[in-house]
Order: sequence, then structure tokens, then C-alpha cells
Amino acid sequence: MSLTEEIKNKVTVLDLVSEFVDLKKQGRLFKSVCPFHSENTPSFIVDPDKNMWRCFGACSTGGDVISFIMKKDSISFLDSLNFLKNKLGITTENFSSQKFKEIEEIKKINMLSAEFFKTSLFSTSGENVRNYLKNRGISKQSAIDFDLGYNPPGNKLSDYINNKGYSLDSLSKYGLVSKSKGETFYDFFSDRLIFPIKNQKKEILGFGGRILNDQLPKYINTKKNLAFDKGSVLYGIDQSVEYIRDNDECVLVEGYTDVIIAHQYGYKNVVASMGTAITTQQASKIADISNNAIIALDADQAGTEATLNALDKSWGIFASSNKDHPSGITNKSVRKNFILKVVELPDETDPDSFIRKDFKAWKTIIDDAKPIIEYLIKLLAARFDSSTPEGKELIEETVRPFISNERNPYIQDQYISMLSSQLDVSEQRIRAGFDNKSRIYFDSKNNFNNTNFMHNGKTRLLLLTEHLVSLIISNNITNKDLFNDWDLEMIDDTICKQLLYEWINDSDLNVTDANLTEKIDSLKLEKSVFYDNQKLLEVIGKLKIQIEREYLVMKNNALISNTDLNQSEIKDQIITIQNRIKNIDILLSNKN
Ligand SMILES: [Zn+2]
Repeated sequence: MSLTEEIKNKVTVLDLVSEFVDLKKQGRLFKSVCPFHSENTPSFIVDPDKNMWRCFGACSTGGDVISFIMKKDSISFLDSLNFLKNKLGITTENFSSQKFKEIEEIKKINMLSAEFFKTSLFSTSGENVRNYLKNRGISKQSAIDFDLGYNPPGNKLSDYINNKGYSLDSLSKYGLVSKSKGETFYDFFSDRLIFPIKNQKKEILGFGGRILNDQLPKYINTKKNLAFDKGSVLYGIDQSVEYIRDNDECVLVEGYTDVIIAHQYGYKNVVASMGTAITTQQASKIADISNNAIIALDADQAGTEATLNALDKSWGIFASSNKDHPSGITNKSVRKNFILKVVELPDETDPDSFIRKDFKAWKTIIDDAKPIIEYLIKLLAARFDSSTPEGKELIEETVRPFISNERNPYIQDQYISMLSSQLDVSEQRIRAGFDNKSRIYFDSKNNFNNTNFMHNGKTRLLLLTEHLVSLIISNNITNKDLFNDWDLEMIDDTICKQLLYEWINDSDLNVTDANLTEKIDSLKLEKSVFYDNQKLLEVIGKLKIQIEREYLVMKNNALISNTDLNQSEIKDQIITIQNRIKNIDILLSNKN
């Protein structure tokens, strides 16, 4: 029996959730306001028969006991298993429990080390570091709140932990001790100011260390191990998570001291990426707890460069909001739009120095944060010469994916007109650019969720349908069996529906109806001729399931917003639909 099964045998969703949520029985189900987002009417449901939980509100997610803990503590699948294993007193040894043991040992050693660092900071040997903190404007209280510490020179930490019964080899494996060429051990963070890096549960996963003299590198951090991966942690999340959830806003900065100073001045929704580039894991962590992120990176060239590169990757996460949990059902389409903004700091400043200079101005600058697209257009216009055709094209090309990602058609219009005035190009010209590249709409994963998506007054469903019909017409496809397993009722455009119907039932598509011929002519303009038949069939197959998905998402949204979710048959119907959407997503991601 796997550990997952063992856990599920030991605790039901109802029992586990009841420990944390005040559930009220309602018919067959148990309900409550959602513990993960703020709401007045309960949309959080536990179904004891199916042994499942689900939020029908903003989270629009659900699952089993493991995914509940993952969501509650914003932790990984493995951490959730480990938590439940300990909680339920499961002692079976297997491969994963060996890993858990190591993770537990790392956390334990980190905790002991942090205590040692802290004691050192406030001992006589830490005087220089305390002076440094004072000069940087970091108060004693902040140093205590963030468990700052000091690793004295030499191998004092190694000795200390070694005396607690841990081998130097395991210390070295967990990155606290290094081995010199002469095979002698010394403290990895020797003579550095220490920033413990914690997860949301306030467990110490690793450390950052800053040197106080001119040596390089200025900052080092724990090497990747089973418990720590810098790219998947947000510094300060342990102190910020509640504030981020309560305000539904997360401010992302670069460095440790940016976070500490922000918190010291009362801005407690601030976390750091601990480096210039935000990773996709970090982006997804933020999207998991908030719908609004504001990026406030340093104003230097490297900072803006990194922002651009990072956004390119992480945008997908923000745009499609939270990732699927391996053991939950998720319907992304119902989730609210994620809003990403950027703060531009004055030259030569970082959030740390900015706040210390005038802490009240921080609120203003955050409130004035610009939507990412505005920032991008400005940034690119400064970089490329927007007076030349080449410059215009470069800027437009870079910004286009961000604009087409925008789900709200009115905001999308705003962006297009913004781009038009910035480039001094007519809006029609820019829209034409979108039309020429309209194929990106069919391949961009980020738009799958988007039922409100409109392009030239056409819904995504219609665009997909027209594309499908056009492929069939342009390529003289004769194999009608392609649509045996497919329900024509999923198409809502009557002309396309009729065309397909006639094509399926009449080999020549001998239409005389003026409406239909006009449509055929316009679709033929798409000129989607394929020379590779295999490829063509693949594209058609993909379009068929994309259309099905679009149809299901619409149906799902209609059911959720218009019906009483207490009716179990409707709930079952919704769950069936959502499972099918989930399967389609897997199918589509395999096809990409
Ligand atoms: Zn919720």
C-alpha cells in the first residue's frame, strides 16, 4: 500500500477538514465559508460520500485530504504527505519516508544552527554585525522577528552542531559546512550575517548569508537539497502570508533587507524572490494566495532586464492562475483574473533605501503601480527606436502575447490604443498585426480558460469552429468518420453548424444557400492548406477537443452561476464536466 493510500485509509476528508473549518451539515453535504479566500456566503463544501472537498468560489478548486493540506499550508505534495504521515502516526518505512526523514533532519539541524547564529549575533562577537544592522536601519525588533543571526569566523557552528550529535558529513551534505582542499571542515557561512529562509509554516529550510567586508560574493545561500530550493521559496512568506491573503495583494521585491525594512515600516505583504529573476514556482506560489501581485524590483539595468526575462516565463503562471494540484480537481476558468502590476522605483534606489528615505511614499508608489503592459510598452519604447519600422515591429512583437493574454476585451482595447499612440501607428494597423498572427490564439495555452475572450467581435468558440470548417473546406477532406464521435450541438454558430452538417451528409458540399456560400468564401480566405495529411488530421483532432473544451467551460460556468449547487445531481454533472475538462487539458498538454 502506498503512503497516499495509507493516509487516506486513516483519515477522511470530513474528519480532517473539520479540525480546521467550522462545517455545518446541510443535507448530504457539509458547508462553510471558504478557509482559503474571504467570502460571506459559504461556497466551501465537503462531500463525505465522495470523500472530497471543494470551493465553488474564487478558489474553484478541490480534492482529497492531501490537497487540502497542500492548499491550507501552501506546501508541496511531498510536504503534505509528510505532515499527514506524522500527524496520523504512520510509521511504515518506504522510499518516501526515507526522504522525509532526511527533510526532517535538515529542518532540525537548520533550527539548531539558527539558534546558534542568533545567540552569536547578540554576543560580543556579533558587535560588528549589530552595528552593520543599525547602520542599515534594521531595528533590534526586526532582527528578532526575522531571526537574523551571525556565523562567527572559523568552524564554530560545525563544532556546535557536531557536539549535538550530528556528523560533519551530514552538515556538509546540508550545506552548512564546506570541506577545504586539505580535507578540513569549515563553516560555509563563516563570518556572515545570516538570514534564515522559512516556509509558510515557519520551518527553516535554508539560509542566506551576507559578507560584511568587500569580499565576493556578497551573498551566498544554502545549496539545493531535499528541503531547500531557492527558486521555490519566497523570503518573508512566513511573516507575510496572512497579510497577503487578507489584502489580496502581494508585493514582490528582490532582497532580504527590502523585505525586512518594508515589514519594519508596517508594509507586511512584502516577500522577496532572493535574486533578480522570479521563477515560475515562485509565481505560482503567489498566484496560489493572491490575485494581485505587484513587482517592485531595483531600478538598475540588470533588474529591468531580469524582470522582462522572468515575466516572459512566469506570465503564463500568473495568467492561468494556480497550478493543478496532483490530487485535486481544478477548474481554472472560474477563477478571477490575475492582475500583475509593476512599480518603477526612482533611479539608484531599491525598496529598502526608498522606504527608509520616506516610508509614507511607499504606499503612494504601490498604489500607483502600473499594469504590466503599460510598463512594458514604456520600457521597450525606451530601449528600441520606436521611430523606425524595425523598432516598431520589435516592440509590437514583444508586447503582443501580453495583450492577447488579457481576458477583458475592454482592457485589451485600451492596451491596443496605448500601443498605437506610443508607436505612432494606427490602431487598425496594430489590430491587423494581431489578425495576421491570429493562429497564436489557437495554440496559446493561456487562453484556453478564457470564455470571455473576444477577437474582432468573435468568441473563441467561434474562431475555433471557423478554423475547423475552413480546414475541412480548403483541404477537401473526404473522411466523414472523423466526426462520428463528435457532437455537432457543441457548435453554437448556426452557419458553421449547418455547413458541417451538410458536409458530413453530402460529399460535395453542394450548397446553394447564399448565407452559406458567403461563409464558405470568407473561410476559404484563410487558406489553411496542408500538404502533410498526418499533420492536418492532428490539427483537426486538436481543434475538435478544443471546441469541446470551450463548450464545456461555458456549460460549467452557466451551471455554477445559475443553479442551486445543493442539488446533488447538478453537482455531479458539474464534477463530470470538470473532470472531462481536466482530461482535455492533459490531452492538450500532451499534444503540445
Ligand atoms: Zn475558496
